[in-house]
Amino acid sequence: MSAFKYEKDADGIVTITMDMSGPVNAMNEEYNVAMNETVDRLEKEDGLSGVVFASAKNTFFAGGDLNMLLAVQPDQAEDFYKGILETKSRLRRLEKLPVPVVAAINGAALGGGFEICLSCNHRVAWNNKAVQVGLPEVGLGLLPGGGGVVRMVSLLGLETALPYLLEGKKVNAEKALKAGLIHETVESLEELVPRAKVWINENKGNEAAAVQPWDNKGYKIPGGGANSPKLAQTLMMAPAMLMQKTRGLLPAPEMILDAATEAARLDFDNAQLVEARNFTRLAISPEAKNMISTFFFGLNKVNGGASRPKDIAPSKVKKVGILGAGMMGQGIAFSSAMAGIEVVLKDISQEAADKGKAYTEKLLDKRISRKRMTEEKKAQVLGLINATANDEDLQGCDLIIEAVFENMELKHKITKATEGYLAENGVWGSNTSTLPITQLAEGATNQANFIGIHFFSPVDKMPLVEIITGENTSDETLARAFDYVRQIKKTPIVVNDSVGFFTSRTFGTYIDEGIRLLREGVHPVQVDSMGKAIGMPVGSLTVHDETSQQLSHKVVSTQKEMGLYKEQVDGDAMSDVVEFVYVENNRGGRHHGGGYYTYNEDGSKTVWQPLVDKYYKEDHGVDEQDMKDRLLFRSVIETLKCLQEGVLRNVPDGNIGSIMGIGAPIWTGGYIQFVNTYGAKKFVARCKELQAKFGDRFEAPANVVEKAEKGELFQ
Ligand code: NAD
Repeated sequence: MSAFKYEKDADGIVTITMDMSGPVNAMNEEYNVAMNETVDRLEKEDGLSGVVFASAKNTFFAGGDLNMLLAVQPDQAEDFYKGILETKSRLRRLEKLPVPVVAAINGAALGGGFEICLSCNHRVAWNNKAVQVGLPEVGLGLLPGGGGVVRMVSLLGLETALPYLLEGKKVNAEKALKAGLIHETVESLEELVPRAKVWINENKGNEAAAVQPWDNKGYKIPGGGANSPKLAQTLMMAPAMLMQKTRGLLPAPEMILDAATEAARLDFDNAQLVEARNFTRLAISPEAKNMISTFFFGLNKVNGGASRPKDIAPSKVKKVGILGAGMMGQGIAFSSAMAGIEVVLKDISQEAADKGKAYTEKLLDKRISRKRMTEEKKAQVLGLINATANDEDLQGCDLIIEAVFENMELKHKITKATEGYLAENGVWGSNTSTLPITQLAEGATNQANFIGIHFFSPVDKMPLVEIITGENTSDETLARAFDYVRQIKKTPIVVNDSVGFFTSRTFGTYIDEGIRLLREGVHPVQVDSMGKAIGMPVGSLTVHDETSQQLSHKVVSTQKEMGLYKEQVDGDAMSDVVEFVYVENNRGGRHHGGGYYTYNEDGSKTVWQPLVDKYYKEDHGVDEQDMKDRLLFRSVIETLKCLQEGVLRNVPDGNIGSIMGIGAPIWTGGYIQFVNTYGAKKFVARCKELQAKFGDRFEAPANVVEKAEKGELFQ
């Protein structure tokens, strides 16, 4: 049986129902065969009056075959290119049929799926949230290679098409209709294919209905071709603006802009060749391998429960108690109420608790003003949050998360005072960022039900949650914490208890190495720009100003008091600089009146001069490539150590955690995946060089040495 069902009705309309063997329709070898047969047959079909493309799956069509894209290697580029041309030619033949072709879009039509739709003369979609259209390839380091770039530019014009191509913007049916990406919508699924057929019947004898706009003689791209004066000016600026965003680290947006510009300059078929060439370049690039591995396969594994104990039934939280309505507590309350969970938000006074609840109101109002929420929904979400100063209101919570001040004694005290209000077998979570879970759990009667649930700030925006198991945390507690994080639509990684857990520990090395560069005489502004040059969102010193030197000082003192402080390899550079900046000069960070930088009222910042006077040396002699590699390798090495020590339980958690939690450069696909495409052997060799030049902190961990010897990847 073919993957595409072919049915002709009495009016001469053929309906192609795509029903491939996997869970979704995708552009793979099965598709190639089915689409080829289908187009061959349609071209020969007698009495054909029109074609409808429909899907038997819940989604219309999923897109490219990512396993195949991940596997393609540089020495296969030529064959790959030829394959792309064949894919394109099938779609070209489809749109050149002498009869109208209609896409009946019943669900998500993304990437290759939307490229099929774009090759149809008419697009009808079900007006339902199941329908999403767009070309998200850029997010995986790719471009829409099935004609998507050329057709979008031809359809919408270059400027209007660019956000869809460069940002991978996806839209629902209503927005797609407004934007001209589809032609009409129907209100029920049952009307979809019938409506497509009615459209064909209405257009009987109308030859124009079977011709794509761009195949009409004299067709002008909306907004003009690349040579029109207005566009020419935009195009002159565009590459520079793009470079500012990508810092030259992401080839996909560059290749997309190039193919889109050519689509506005060349004729349709030649533009398709540029698109195919650029797609081939991207498909074999390390950046695409990294991004596909982590953002698709890795993320699916993480969210699918790779780190969740298997044999435990799924659970749902009905009522969550949040202790502390400060910056973190209020965000956790918002995210929980948005997921429909009843929330008890408790602080030391009613006023403080109300203030925490008001934060949710503020966020909801913002949504209303952007027309993303109704007043009714707002009332419903707010109604779920009970702001209180009474412990008794916590009665019956199946989960309590504490987000009070970072103080072991206080945390022990409130655990003792409120643990009894938990429902039977309820879970106790701590949002601590630095205190060991095992020691915090000593405050609880039921240590098996105690776990770390570490959110990131701002909670409403940050997608990651780091779950930390203590020595006595049970598998059931872990599974329930995991399910809660999924319930509030965030991504959970699971780590074992270690100072700084995984994220803070690794992030600390990025700050530490920046500080070392500063001490060696590199100008503070250059230290920060080197961080940005490798793709970090912010430089080491700027980010330390944000997280605050005052906090670093406190954390180290607490660790020393608690006997948790570990001597640093190559000395404690951070404490040395913090001593000068914070202890001696009272510069505790941006929110404490300034740190390495002074923050001016107009929003600008200037380097604090004594920092330059003390450390800067014009002839510091540190090579730029060394600076970049040092900043990147420190985090990579720390992540590998976390994996080796069992702080990380698997590779995808390390990759996703580093990207979503600590802003690892996107092009790396995360700090472990980076090694896979850099090459373990090359990585070990570079570690040796850096170690010889700069110290033992660059010693390659044993696990990567082993991978290098065996020629294996981290998976
Ligand atoms: P915060 O100072 O903004 O809020 C703490 C709140 O706890 C205050 O509103 C305070 O009144 C309240 N509180 C104190 N004692 C209480 C008690 N006995 N009962 C109820 N409420 C009480 O602090 P924050 O930044 O929200 O941090 C809270 C926790 O989250 C800390 O453990 C911190 O380490 C951790 N954390 C913070 C961040 C961050 O970026 N700020 C990130 C991750 C984790």
